[in-house]
Formats: sequence, structure tokens, C-alpha cells
Amino acid sequence: MSFISLKELRNGFVHLFYPDLCEGCSNPLVSGEHVLCMGCATLLPETNYHYTDNNETAMRFAGRVPFVKATSLAYFTEDGLLQHLLHGLKYRGQIQNGKYLGARLAATLKHGGWLNDIDIVIPVPLHPSRLHERGYNQSAILAAALGKKVDTVSLIRVKKTESQTTKTRAERADNMMGAFLLADTTPLLGKHILILDDVLTTGATIEACANVLLGAQNVKISIATIGIAIS
Ligand SMILES: [Zn+2]
Repeated sequence: MSFISLKELRNGFVHLFYPDLCEGCSNPLVSGEHVLCMGCATLLPETNYHYTDNNETAMRFAGRVPFVKATSLAYFTEDGLLQHLLHGLKYRGQIQNGKYLGARLAATLKHGGWLNDIDIVIPVPLHPSRLHERGYNQSAILAAALGKKVDTVSLIRVKKTESQTTKTRAERADNMMGAFLLADTTPLLGKHILILDDVLTTGATIEACANVLLGAQNVKISIATIGIAIS
């Protein structure tokens, strides 16, 4: 005979009246499903870039900044499932979307040991005023799921940049000039750092972070994003 706890019983009741709905199809999620139902989970357009060095994410940084490897979890398209999940995370407080996507990235990268030689994960920092507004850094939520040491203090954002969405590639790079600084180099010395961001477009933001991080002695940089914008 098995007993269920009061907590389980209460959660069961809450779930009965307010079931969590799939972010993809709005059907109620069943036990063991989080954020996406099993059907919608298979629809996330994964890139499998971590199996090849010369992938599109790596190409976007080639010749711009020295890095070891680069990858993105899935394709980010206008009105696609990934855009919906990431917008929920960024603009609607849906932290669970970030935990889910971070866990998917972790599960994917563990294949082939992609994360094995990474020492520290640095999520792209938000400007303190933006962080205060939102209450959390979406990239730090993603980073927490990787099971690696996460550093959110050594690299800081000192410039509140305007929205990048309507800018050209050159304007985006200008916009990011002087945006980041190293508050402390000591924890980074000799480390292999993974820079983590939500979506890769031109790469201007990550490039600016990498250039600043490379100011610490003997660091190596790798890059991962959840989405790669495909136009
Ligand atoms: Zn669904």
C-alpha cells in the first residue's frame, strides 16, 4: 500500500483545476512534461551544431574573435516556437521556459562531452538598471541549468545599449563599444570560459564580451546560444 503526501495531494488538486498548459499547443501537460508536451518538444528545431566545428554559429565569429568552439541549440525564426519560449522568458517572467531551454542545451551538449573542458560559464550581463527592471538575467537562468560554475560578477555591463533590432551590423558593433568591463580578472585567469546568450543575430554583443574577457591572462573562449536567428 502506498501513501501520498499532503503536498502531493494538494499539488494534484491544484493541477486538476489549473493544469499547466503546453507553451506550444496549449493542451494540458501530463506528469513528467514541463513547458512543452512530448509532441511539441520534438518540434523545437535543433541545429545539432555541436557535432561540427564549422557550423553557422562558428562562422559568424570566424575572423572576428579568437574562440575554441561555438554552437547554438536551435533555429530562431520569426513567430517560431523558440521565439515564443524566449519572449516568454524575457518579457513575461516565464522563468520555467529558461530552465527548460537551459536543460535542453545541457542535455544536448553533454553528448560528445562538449562541456567537459569548460571551466566557467559567463552569461551575457544585463545593465544593472535593466536587471532591476526585469528582476533577473534571462541568460543567467539558462546558464544555471548547465551544471557548471556560473560567474555573474567578473564581467559587468557598464553601458545601457539601445535596442539592436533596427540596427545594421556596423551600427550594432558601434553600439556595443565600451559596453562591458572586467570587474575582476582573478577568477578567470587561465580558464576556459563559455559565453552564454539567448539569441545570436550578428554576434556584436558576444564579440564585445569576448574581447573584454580576453583581457584576462591565458583565457580561452567558447560560445553557446540557445537560438540562432535565421532570416
Ligand atoms: Zn504541445
